[in-house]
Amino acid sequence: MDDSTTQTREIFGDEHAEVRTQTRRFIAERIAPFHEQWEKDGRVPRSIWQEAGELGMLCPTVPEQYGGLGVDFLYSVIVMEELSLAHTTGPGFVVHSEMVTPYLVNFGTEEQKSHWLPRMVTGEVIGAVAMSEPSAGSDLRGMRTRAVRKGDGYVISGQKVFISNGQLADLFVVAAKLEDSDKISLFLVESDRPGFARGRALDKLGVHAQDTSELFFDQVTVPRENILGEEDAGLRYLRAGLARERLTIAISSQARAEAIFRDTVSYVTGRKVFEQYLSELQNTRFTLASIRAELEAGQALVDRQISRYLAGELDETTAAMAKLWVTEMQGRTADACLQLHGGWGYMREYSVARAFVDSRVDRITGGTSEIMKEIIARGIWDARR
Ligand SMILES: Cc1cc2nc3c(=O)[nH]c(=O)nc-3n(C[C@H](O)[C@H](O)[C@H](O)COP(=O)(O)OP(=O)(O)OC[C@H]3O[C@@H](n4cnc5c(N)ncnc54)[C@H](O)[C@@H]3O)c2cc1C
Repeated sequence: MDDSTTQTREIFGDEHAEVRTQTRRFIAERIAPFHEQWEKDGRVPRSIWQEAGELGMLCPTVPEQYGGLGVDFLYSVIVMEELSLAHTTGPGFVVHSEMVTPYLVNFGTEEQKSHWLPRMVTGEVIGAVAMSEPSAGSDLRGMRTRAVRKGDGYVISGQKVFISNGQLADLFVVAAKLEDSDKISLFLVESDRPGFARGRALDKLGVHAQDTSELFFDQVTVPRENILGEEDAGLRYLRAGLARERLTIAISSQARAEAIFRDTVSYVTGRKVFEQYLSELQNTRFTLASIRAELEAGQALVDRQISRYLAGELDETTAAMAKLWVTEMQGRTADACLQLHGGWGYMREYSVARAFVDSRVDRITGGTSEIMKEIIARGIWDARR
């Protein structure tokens, strides 16, 4: 996906080229040089959110009336791809722009939208989605966080885990069950509500610059206006959101696999073994040829799902197929490319080493590969009914 290939992808028009150049430049100048330090810090600074907001990189699809650019989803795709191509996994822009704001845009009240969206577009307010719990990840039925109706509002108690942007976020979309219900409802919870507390930033295998946290809710009172959509309808909203989330993971993973491939081509072209360049060995050539073929297949699959999304036709099953196939392909790519680097592939100074661990999570977040297979399998038998 070099410049020429990118621009020949049919889904993009001429209007996207300049945005890609600008985004790439911003990442190269304002994010990449500082990323190693942010990995040590375990988070990115808030200021980078505001800088990205100024450039229009946050929530670009949010309608103009709420401060966004009101542009198409392809502008978001560019941001996701460029962050992955640069191996800059720290800024949690995708969670914020592509997971949190769509809940507000699609299911929020007019008041919620005008209150939150303009500040999310500028990066003044950072968002996160809090679904997972220690005993409820794949199986959300095990969710224990409860919301009790009290006066003109709700009192929320429970615990969340693995929440991306958890240390930085000001606004959380929190999934909880109402006192007398087994169904999920969604609530907007601000980080300054009494009873809300952030736990530790979790010590992860990779993606070190992104703050992933535990969250605690000890009788957190929110007003009635903080419910998102209708009571008990949360699972329906989450399912709609998850299809988009899975597509975004496929988009980012595809671009990261592409970056790993490119870095490896450069490496093997310069490294000599037994008086030959690595790139001259048949094993290297065949390995990279197979990866190139898989990358082309993955890009076609991703672009097809993006087109379906743009046409309002992305469904849960095809989004699951894209996430499953592309994240597994990314895993194969990272492993094979690390091997081609030999011992240097195991050193964090090489991008392939970092990408190897950073990419591992994509087969887990947003639903594991096994859950993607469950969804696809369900689709097979549903179609026979
Ligand atoms: C870095 C990171 C960031 C994250 N960010 C967020 C976030 O922002 N917000 C949020 O809410 N969550 C987030 N998560 C949570 C993530 O979505 C869950 O980890 C994921 O859904 C899996 O749930 P679990 O960890 O409880 O694993 P489990 O559900 O306990 O799964 C354990 C194993 O069992 C398998 N399994 C489960 N069910 C089945 C089945 N029916 N058939 C076959 N196998 C099955 C799984 O595939 C897995 O291999 C994040 C996780 C990580 C690691």
